Amino acid sequence: MSSSGCVLVDARRVFAESFGGAEPQLGVFAPGRVNLIGEHTDYNGGFVLPMALPLVTVLVGTPTSDGKISIVTTAEGADAPHRVEFEAPQDGRPLTPGNPSWANYVKGVIQHYRAGPVPGFNAVIASDVPLGGGLSSSASLEVATYTFLQQLCPDDGDPVQKALSCQRAEHTFAGVPCGIMDQFISVLGREGHALLIDCRSLEVTPLPLTDPGLVVLITNSNVRHELTGSEYPARRRQCEEAAKALGKESLRDASLGDLEALKACLTEECYRRARHVITEIARTTSAARALKAGDYRAFGKLMVQSHNSLRDDYEVSCPELDELVSLALEVSGVYGSRMTGGGFGGCTVTLVEASAADRTKQQLQEKFSGSATFYITKPSEGAGVLLL
Ligand code: ADP
Ligand code: MG
Repeated sequence: MSSSGCVLVDARRVFAESFGGAEPQLGVFAPGRVNLIGEHTDYNGGFVLPMALPLVTVLVGTPTSDGKISIVTTAEGADAPHRVEFEAPQDGRPLTPGNPSWANYVKGVIQHYRAGPVPGFNAVIASDVPLGGGLSSSASLEVATYTFLQQLCPDDGDPVQKALSCQRAEHTFAGVPCGIMDQFISVLGREGHALLIDCRSLEVTPLPLTDPGLVVLITNSNVRHELTGSEYPARRRQCEEAAKALGKESLRDASLGDLEALKACLTEECYRRARHVITEIARTTSAARALKAGDYRAFGKLMVQSHNSLRDDYEVSCPELDELVSLALEVSGVYGSRMTGGGFGGCTVTLVEASAADRTKQQLQEKFSGSATFYITKPSEGAGVLLL
C-alpha cells in the first residue's frame, strides 16, 4: 500500500471516536482498479486487462465477544446512516440486504464468507477510491471486508474462491450482476504489472508495466448518469440472447464471421452489442501482445477503438467521457484514451508519454466543460494486511 497512509490514519481516528477511544487491533486494505482495455467482456467469458491502483479501501477493527457487528464508514458519498449494527449471522438466521445500501456490500461478504462462524466485531471503513467512479470502490470494499474476516477466522486462503465469494456478495446483496474482473484484480493485483485475465478459465498472466517513460493517467469526469442500475443488467441480457441465437455458450466462443452469418436472427441492437463484445475480446489479447512488445502506439490505437465501440455499438459512454477522450487525443505524446469501467460517467484512462502527462492534464483542466479530477497511477499490490 503506498499513497494510502492518510486513509489508515483517518480510519484509526474515526475508530477511536466511534468506539470509546479504543485502538483497532487489525487492519487490512484492498485496492480499486483501472481497466486498461477489455470492457464489458468479463461476463461474456472474455479477456480483461486491469491493474490494481494505489487507491484503496482500508478496514480497521477489533473482534468482540457479544456477537454484534458494528460498522462505520467515513465515506461522504455513502447513503445514511453511516453506522450500522446487526447480529453476526448464525445457522437459521442469515443476513439479508436492506438499508443503508452501502452496508449490503459488507453484509453480503459476511454472509458468503467461506469459513465461519464469524464473531462479532467493531470496524471502520475508510477509502480514497471514489465511490461510483468506475474504479471499483465496490469490489475494494468487498475484498477489504473478506480480508478482514480472514484475520478473524482464517479460511483456506484460496484467492480465486475469495474473489468468487465477493462477486456472489455483489450479486445477491447489492443486486448488481457484475462479472469477475473487479474482485479478481483487487485480490490478485501485482505491483508493477497489469494482469491479463481470462474470465472463463480464470487464468492470469501478469504483464510488466514499469516503463518510466510511460504514465497511466486516470481522469474522473465527476459525472454519474443514473442509468447504470438498469442498463448494466440489460446489456448482460442482450449478450446472453445474442450468444443463444448464435448457438454458443457465451460470446467468447463466437467469431465476427459467426455473427455476420446469423445477423438476420438478431435485432439490430443485439447485433451491435455482440459486435462490441467480440471485437473487444480480440482487441484485449492484441493489446496484451502490444504491451509485451513495448508497442505503446499499437496499444493506444486499440484503446481508441475500444472507446469508439463502447460509444457506438455498446452505447455505454456519455458526452462527458467522449469529450475527455477527444481532448486527450489532441495532445502530442498521448498514445490512447478511453472510458473505463461500466460507463455512463466515471473515469477515462489515458496512456501517455511521461513527458506529456502534465500538458495532458493541463489541456483537460482548461478545455473540459466539466470539472475533472486526475490520478497519475502505478500498478499496485492486491489486498493485504496492514501492520498497526
Ligand atoms: P464503483 O465500484 O465503480 O465505485 P459501484 O456503484 O459499483 O461503483 O459501487 C459504489 C457503491 O459501493 C457506493 O454507492 C457504496 O454503496 C459502496 N461503497 C464503496 N466504497 C464504500 C465505502 N468506503 N463506504 C461505504 N460504501 C462504499
Ligand atoms: Mg462497482
